[in-house]
Amino acid sequence: MEAQTGILTVVSGFSGSGKGTIMKRLLEKYPEKYALSISATTRDPRPGEADGREYFFCTTEHFENMIENDELLEYACYVNNYYGTPKAYVQEQLAAGKDVILEIEIQGALKIKEKYPDTVLMFVTPPSFEELKRRLVDRGTETPEVVRERLCRAGEECDGVEAYDYLIVNDDLESCVEQVHSILQNEHTKILRKESFINKMKAELAKYAKGEQS
Ligand code: 5GP
Repeated sequence: MEAQTGILTVVSGFSGSGKGTIMKRLLEKYPEKYALSISATTRDPRPGEADGREYFFCTTEHFENMIENDELLEYACYVNNYYGTPKAYVQEQLAAGKDVILEIEIQGALKIKEKYPDTVLMFVTPPSFEELKRRLVDRGTETPEVVRERLCRAGEECDGVEAYDYLIVNDDLESCVEQVHSILQNEHTKILRKESFINKMKAELAKYAKGEQS
């Protein structure tokens, strides 16, 4: 069996959609199959977040150096802060055969899809607007102004959802995790991801037909 390269997967969703929880659980269940990219950001850590775990927290100057040195796969500005995906880790994990998940917002997602058209884009949403608002307020980590900014931004993000491949409605954690897992397992069987397998099979059949292989 030939070695497989991983699938680049982007997961976006409204702030408060629960996408982070789904991805964390997916990795706990299938650590050998998936890797989660850790982004760099200039926003301050929230209580309970650690540098190098949720994000690499850095200064604007450091972030702008990474942009200049071409160390980011993509980056975007979201609610007045920079967020970006460091390239090296993603490339290493894909080469090792893991599907790499980027949990990023829509501008970054669309840039990635343009650069790497084989990327799978998933969008996670709560079942309703009321539920989205409730989750953001209940999180209790954001000021009312930031909650409002995030809800306004959510409206803009809805406009780009047509570019995504899959919509995950987050009403039950475990079933969402299994849905994401089965989407990615099915993606691996797509013909367009099997080019080298098919070419090898064709070459062997051609050799056989010519009598060069028994
Ligand atoms: P939060 O501040 O809530 O952690 O993240 C805000 C938004 O930034 C979320 O939609 C999150 O998915 C997005 N984000 C996180 N990391 C990146 C990244 O590396 N690139 C881009 N484009 N967006 C990111």
